[in-house]
Order: sequence, then structure tokens, then C-alpha cells
Amino acid sequence: MLNSSVFSRVMKKWSRTRGRLVVISSPTAGGKTTVCAALIKSDRTCVRSVSCTTRRPRKGEEDGVDYYFLGEKAFKEKIKQGFFLEWAKVHDSYYGTPGRYAEDLLKKGKNVILTIDVNGGKQVKRNFKDACFIFLLPPSFNEMLKRIKRRGTESRAAVSLRLSTAEKELKELPAYQYLVINDSLNDAVCRIRSIIKAENSKIKHAKEAH
Ligand code: 5GP
Repeated sequence: MLNSSVFSRVMKKWSRTRGRLVVISSPTAGGKTTVCAALIKSDRTCVRSVSCTTRRPRKGEEDGVDYYFLGEKAFKEKIKQGFFLEWAKVHDSYYGTPGRYAEDLLKKGKNVILTIDVNGGKQVKRNFKDACFIFLLPPSFNEMLKRIKRRGTESRAAVSLRLSTAEKELKELPAYQYLVINDSLNDAVCRIRSIIKAENSKIKHAKEAH
């Protein structure tokens, strides 16, 4: 007969307590930073991982908030020390996700949101079998161009570089599990929240359960 201790044992064995690593990638101006900020504001189970980068801060960006801004030597030293959960060179700069911070949050049951490029996404896929992969796209190419121009932070050469990277990035879309079109911010955030909820409602993977 079912009793409370059997019930608790079943719950403990098959439900997840660990958070989910959520990779969100998109080509340039896909809106992942805005979507991620709105997601974190609306869902306390989600935490954004702050990456390290060797790129120069843009106007208004703060060290330790938007990124940890590092010199190339310091970044390479951290690669050697195994500090990063993943890292990649994107548009001539290095970017990497600090590993320890993400791991601590996952243990506390938080969903850790990584807004990273497709090469970083590949590394996560190799090392974290239960991570969730979301590809975010602007609603059209014209909208994408409009967003880049509105941002106004890139030189013409930098825009060309980002567009040619975007072409390569789009080829990686089939490796992702979910496609979210970022037409309306609200809708995109709702969809991502639903995806995370569904992922976390999955019955624990047999290997994790034992
Ligand atoms: P941005 O310079 O516009 O902030 O970012 C450029 C690209 O680097 C974006 O595609 C962004 O998602 C990616 N990126 C930001 N942080 C990381 C990271 O920690 N790892 C990887 N692999 N890519 C990142």
C-alpha cells in the first residue's frame, strides 16, 4: 500500500532538483540580451551567467554586470586554468562562461541562462547532456538590419563581419532543440519560460535517478 515514505522516495527519485543549463544563441541583433534580461526579471528561477570577454566595453556597459572585461593575456591564463565551462573566439574577441558560478547555481536549483555563440553551444552540448538549446531569430532579415543600425555601436566593417558570422551561425540552427522567433518581446519570453518549465517537468533521466 502507498504510504508517505514510499511516495517521498518516488518523488525524490524521479523529479529534478538540479537547475537546467539553458543555451540561447542567435545571430547578431537577434535580441538575446534583451530577451534574457526580460526573462530573468519575470522568472526568479532563471539566472544569467555573466561571461568574460576581451572585447572593449560598449557605451553604458559595466564590468561585472554585462561582462567581466579582461585583457587577452588574463583570458588565456584562465583558459589554461580550466576556469571556463566553454569559451570561443567570436568576431575577433574571446568570450567564455565561468564554470564554478554556473555549477553552484545549478546545484541550488537555478536555471542558468547562457547567451552564447554557436561554437560555445557545441561545447556545452558535448559536456552537459541535459542542457537545453534554444535558437532565437529576429522576425526578418530587414528587422535584423534595422536593429543593428538602431544599436549604432558598430562600424560599417564590424557590421559586415557580424553579417558574415550570422550566415555561418544560421547553419548551426538544426543542432538546437527549439526555435523562438523574437517578434514580440513578451511572446518570446513566454515561450522560453514555457520551454524551461517543460524541460524541468521531464522525468529525471534514468542515469540521474539511480
Ligand atoms: P557581443 O559582443 O555582441 O556582446 O557578443 C558577441 C557574441 O558573443 C554573441 O553571439 C554572444 O552571444 C557571444 N557570447 C557572449 N558571451 C559568450 C560566452 O561566454 N561564450 C561564447 N561562446 N559566446 C559568448
